[in-house]
Amino acid sequence: MTCVRDDTATTARVKELLTSGVVSECFYAHRPQDRPCCEGLGVVRYGPTTLCADCDRRRSAVGKGMSPVRLPDPGALLEVLTARDTCRQAELALRHAVSSARGAGHAWSALGAVLGTTRQAAQQRFNEPAVADLSTADHLDNVRWSARTRR
Ligand SMILES: [Zn+2]
Repeated sequence: MTCVRDDTATTARVKELLTSGVVSECFYAHRPQDRPCCEGLGVVRYGPTTLCADCDRRRSAVGKGMSPVRLPDPGALLEVLTARDTCRQAELALRHAVSSARGAGHAWSALGAVLGTTRQAAQQRFNEPAVADLSTADHLDNVRWSARTRR
């Protein structure tokens, strides 16, 4: 059987949704021998049993005689996570570009102008590396260093 497998990033987002508890897991999520194409995220419930879209299509005896209860589309939450990750990547790319521009000798006033903000706002936003890029100790060192160099 051939399944259309999602990329690694999508697999990670599916795990994140399941771990968060906001989406129910498919009954077959941990039974790849039974349902190798299980998508993991529940879209319908038959009594106590939750199924993903693929397992629902292949359903035979599960939930027989029960009315299906449609769950909110977990794909919509996956889209939110994808957009969030895109924003994070864009933020990193912007920080890198600003850093390169500074390295090339452009003034904060020029960066403020192209970013549609003030010199001061651009400097405050980009003068420090993203917190996520640094350990807490590195971040504190950088904050102290930035405070000294701003004077
Ligand atoms: Zn499934």
